[in-house]
Amino acid sequence: MHLFPLFTDLKGRTVLVVGAGLVADRKIHLLLSAGARVVVGAHAAHPQVQARAQAGDIELRLAPFDPAWLDEAWLVIAATNDRTLNRRIADAAAARRLFCNVVDDAELSSAQVPAIVDRSPITIAISSGGSAPVIARRLRERIESLFDPALGALAALAQRKRLAIRQARPELRARRDFYDWLMDGPVLGALRRSRPDEAEAALDQALGHNTPAPAGKVLLVGAGPGDPGLLTLRGLRALNEADVILADRLVSPEVLALARRDAQVIDVGKALGGPHEDTQARIHALMVSHARQGRCVVRLKGGDPLVFGRGGEELQHLKRHGIAYEVVPGITAALACGAYAGIPLTHRDHAQSLTLATAHRRAEATQASEDGVTTDGQTRVYYMGVKRLPVLREQLLADGRAPSTPCALVENGSRANQRTVFATLDTLASTAVEHQVQSPALVLVGEVTALGRELAWFGQTVNAGATTPTADYLQALA
Ligand code: SAH
Repeated sequence: MHLFPLFTDLKGRTVLVVGAGLVADRKIHLLLSAGARVVVGAHAAHPQVQARAQAGDIELRLAPFDPAWLDEAWLVIAATNDRTLNRRIADAAAARRLFCNVVDDAELSSAQVPAIVDRSPITIAISSGGSAPVIARRLRERIESLFDPALGALAALAQRKRLAIRQARPELRARRDFYDWLMDGPVLGALRRSRPDEAEAALDQALGHNTPAPAGKVLLVGAGPGDPGLLTLRGLRALNEADVILADRLVSPEVLALARRDAQVIDVGKALGGPHEDTQARIHALMVSHARQGRCVVRLKGGDPLVFGRGGEELQHLKRHGIAYEVVPGITAALACGAYAGIPLTHRDHAQSLTLATAHRRAEATQASEDGVTTDGQTRVYYMGVKRLPVLREQLLADGRAPSTPCALVENGSRANQRTVFATLDTLASTAVEHQVQSPALVLVGEVTALGRELAWFGQTVNAGATTPTADYLQALA
């Protein structure tokens, strides 16, 4: 082992920091949060450090380094930008058998400060032994995103209940099962929802009975439009918690690659095939049966799970069957396509409202004209519309929208193969055929889409510079 990891209790103990610049200030902040008594020595101090001294949080000695400062210290941190001085401090510490950390100088340090993930009272420390602090920092970021912020509160609760847990579960094995239940069960969920009383009540109640079998649950998670960077942190955590993942066809492989290695992934889009209603019924059955076996089921859907994804029906089914669930929103295709195609969905001058619509309807739904009259100043985004463009065009024209209304089709939004095809309402259907626009693609209708011709920044564009009525329209805007 290159370095011996050690967690020190600095509460009320004196730590000497030599140097009072911004680098020192970051260490001072950390030391104070651990309850240390901080003495800072330097010939001059950054205003931020001075402010701490004025507030009485630290003791500041404005003088040249004096080895006698070490006498009262348990630990020394050298944070000056003078390597010779740092070496003198390290030597003086070594002579007194005090550990000394020289900031960003592994060679001179007898103790190193790790990268930290703070879920107090849980602390995760990462060290590269000074070989590659950048790697440690990157690991820290990754770990930071994996652990629920509520974990700290859970650990604090467990700490308070430690005796009670020990009394109620004197046997190690039973105690371990109880802690497992604590990590997976409703207590953490309640803490995440900021309901500490509910969490404590659930814990107390469980203590009085046999530890409940881990209750299965379903997390309905939005995977976003494809770019894995657009997954939420909560979504990422869900993927790391999952025992089973029921993924839609629209979920990108890059997002699935982030899931826990030993999670069972079922591609319900492909695996189930068959008629639509049938597929949906089987998805419902799969969710319920896996959850009933105590598993954490992640139902992963493209975009947002409650926007044109039948997520609502899935929740209703779970509710009817008494299965616990949570919903993690995702970035829906309209928002992602707007952002990645440089199309502002609303704009002070050009669009005051935004409608998300589907070009598909349930078979029994009325085929009458669009609800309400479509006028200028509205952005309309149509999901699942590629095949129905001729009908969409007819409807919008019949509703009084001008044939020259700017439109855009965004295919594979946010993915490496994104393509944005510009058109007008009049040419919408024929342009899509000409350029063979394929699903998944989104249809955007409204004045703002013309702005994408200038603002596009990602993927390919088609017709961005074409001389069409839309170009005239842009001229008129200018
Ligand atoms: N729940 C999803 C939508 C599911 S409906 C969401 O919130 O985004 C499926 C339709 O969404 C597709 O037919 C297509 O119109 C649109 N869509 C989904 N992902 C897309 C993407 N990356 N680029 C363009 N359109 C997309």
